[in-house]
Amino acid sequence: MKIFDQLGSLGHEQLVLCADPGSGYRGIIAIHSTVLGPAVGGTRWWNYSSEEAAITDALRLSRGMSFKNALADLPLGGGKSVILGGPAASDRRAVLRAHGRSVDRLHGRYVTAEDVGTSPADMEFIAETTTHVAGRAGISGDPSPHTARGVFRAMQAGAKVRWGSDQLAGKTVALQGCGNVGYHLAAQLHQVGATLVASDIDAAKVARVVAEFGATTAPVEQIHQVPADIFAPCALGAVINDLSLPELAASLVCGGANNQLLEPRHGADLAARKIVYVPDYVANAGGVLFGGSIEVLKLSIEATLARIDAIYDTTLMVLERATQEGIPPSEAADRLAEEKIRSRQ
Ligand code: NAD
Repeated sequence: MKIFDQLGSLGHEQLVLCADPGSGYRGIIAIHSTVLGPAVGGTRWWNYSSEEAAITDALRLSRGMSFKNALADLPLGGGKSVILGGPAASDRRAVLRAHGRSVDRLHGRYVTAEDVGTSPADMEFIAETTTHVAGRAGISGDPSPHTARGVFRAMQAGAKVRWGSDQLAGKTVALQGCGNVGYHLAAQLHQVGATLVASDIDAAKVARVVAEFGATTAPVEQIHQVPADIFAPCALGAVINDLSLPELAASLVCGGANNQLLEPRHGADLAARKIVYVPDYVANAGGVLFGGSIEVLKLSIEATLARIDAIYDTTLMVLERATQEGIPPSEAADRLAEEKIRSRQ
């Protein structure tokens, strides 16, 4: 693996490898950019297939955070950290305290928060060893409902571009993942009269969405194929790939998952199939917008929610730029974000 080539090609500032043999902690902190402010991005705890896979994930996710924060007009850069290994493998508190110490050694250049595999409660363990942690209970708390609110607004804007109306009533949404974000998104879609088809590898999570929102279900491996207007990826990344793309039934893709495209070229493939794609980090910025607006900008709840709702306008701007320049929306979003960062360098 040519790490410096990878850092150079994605434009990263710093990659930190961290270890604490006592607790078994092995972590990676990737700082993509601090041009707009401290690099903010969550801690993902995941059982990676290899160390290379973990580094690649941290690099891609941190770059996504830079672009997400830039497009959300937050005075924040982009970073991300990953903890390697199964969460149950060792003493959770000791590992998270060790991670906090690693974050602390960066003296505020990187601020962490929750992500897949970590919870608001875990942030309390991290906070025992660093102050550079956001999303703690009682401060801005669980970001998921706010992320879902933003995804819903992005979906409305996507519908406006795809069908000329932002009404989601009567639309069928294939929901991949009924976890924190998926559940809250399902609630909002149900409230406006959308029809839900849900899938999750965790049967209890699907059962909840069926019971509360009248969803029907589809097998995990078939959810992208079900006849639906909208496909909403709310599980893990890389779900738009060479295998899934020809089988996609929906004509709008909009969800909360990070890194939905396996490769950048899959954005062009979606456009070639006339499928409108709302870039993941445009749609899922609600969580960081909530934390950033409350904890960094010190805005009121009303002003903060208005910023999240403005994801509608950002989505329209990205999709319009894509049309104007004849490029996929994923590329239009990257260009807009890069321009915002470059204008401050
Ligand atoms: P979560 O862990 O609560 O939910 C993910 C769900 O996906 C789980 O229920 C899991 O069982 C399910 N799942 C895993 N693999 C699956 C598969 N192959 N098919 C169907 N379901 C599968 O996580 P979350 O907080 O809801 O986050 C979901 C996605 O949104 C992640 O990609 C995360 O990075 C992204 N995201 C989350 C937030 C947030 O505020 N939580 C913010 C921005 C982005």
